[in-house]
Amino acid sequence: MDRPTQPDAGALTQLASAARECTACELYKDATQTVFGEGAPDARLVLVGEQPGDAEDVQGRPFVGPAGGVLDRALTAAGIDRETVYVTNAVKHFRFVQRGKRRIHAKPGREHIEACHPWLAKELAQVRPEIVVALGATAVQALLGSKYRVMRDRGALIPFGDLDALITIHPSAVLRMPPEDRDKGFGGLVADLTIAAQAIGS
Ligand code: SF4
Repeated sequence: MDRPTQPDAGALTQLASAARECTACELYKDATQTVFGEGAPDARLVLVGEQPGDAEDVQGRPFVGPAGGVLDRALTAAGIDRETVYVTNAVKHFRFVQRGKRRIHAKPGREHIEACHPWLAKELAQVRPEIVVALGATAVQALLGSKYRVMRDRGALIPFGDLDALITIHPSAVLRMPPEDRDKGFGGLVADLTIAAQAIGS
């Protein structure tokens, strides 16, 4: 793939607008809104998570909730400026189960990942990063398919078309760890992101 001579922020904005009308799977029915990717249109690093969480669904922006806080700290620790990257999700609508007033995260199914893949592919085709980071198993499945495993394959550059992919844990995994394991989990996330940072000379 050749990178466009100029980053085309307008094309990404058009994509985001089109995605707001998407009805390709049923997840749009219960979610508040489409949460499209955002960030630098010429980013050398694209980070892909699973799906928006509760806070992201309400605010309409990716990685602005608790997991986003972990990601921000991990990027800073890895020497990566979030302003220079593009962040998105494999699935653009929040899948959840309603329990009373609470909306409990539900993992997106294969059918949702596949239905939403064209949006992710278009984002990558537009931004054309050097490295795409898969944050967790859903992003791995969306980008690389089922032969890769997060804990087995994390932290190494994997050829992915004419760019590289790098697998690491989703930041929310750090939050789900027992308190005594969180520092180690966070350190592992930072170590993986540092490999991506070094690869792009960040
Ligand atoms: S989750 Fe993706 S494919 Fe499904 S409706 Fe939302 S934008 Fe469309």
